[in-house]
Amino acid sequence: MGSPSSASSSTRPTLFLDVMLGKLATYLRMCGYDTAYALDRGVEDDDEILELAQKEGKTLITRDERLSERTENGILLTSLDVTEQLRELDTRGFDLSLSEPSRCSSCNGELVRNDGESPEHAPDGTQIWRCADCGKRFWKGSHWESVERTLADL
Ligand SMILES: [Zn+2]
Repeated sequence: MGSPSSASSSTRPTLFLDVMLGKLATYLRMCGYDTAYALDRGVEDDDEILELAQKEGKTLITRDERLSERTENGILLTSLDVTEQLRELDTRGFDLSLSEPSRCSSCNGELVRNDGESPEHAPDGTQIWRCADCGKRFWKGSHWESVERTLADL
């Protein structure tokens, strides 16, 4: 006993997004959530999606009412619009803000800062992060800023 009561504030769910939510996956990854996306994982069938999400202990997010009813802790979204979907998650207490880039928005790989022997910089001189899985490079450019504005307006 006697462990500090560092409650759940910093523990985030890992997520599994259903086929219709590819755009939302990009946003959640930019917010640092470990977010698997069904089509990235090559599954479209409800049974396969359920099985994979369960096996990996991930929270399933879907717009499919029947699918969400089959999960223990699934999240059902109702909106078609990605900003509205983010608002639905915000209402549920998701921490939707940008800090440092940490997840690849394309493949969910972990991003590493490239500040080794030959640090790279973006055209505007800012820091570059590289995806450890697919190699894609990221920096805080105009896309980052537009996402930041979207999240600030939720
Ligand atoms: Zn990647």
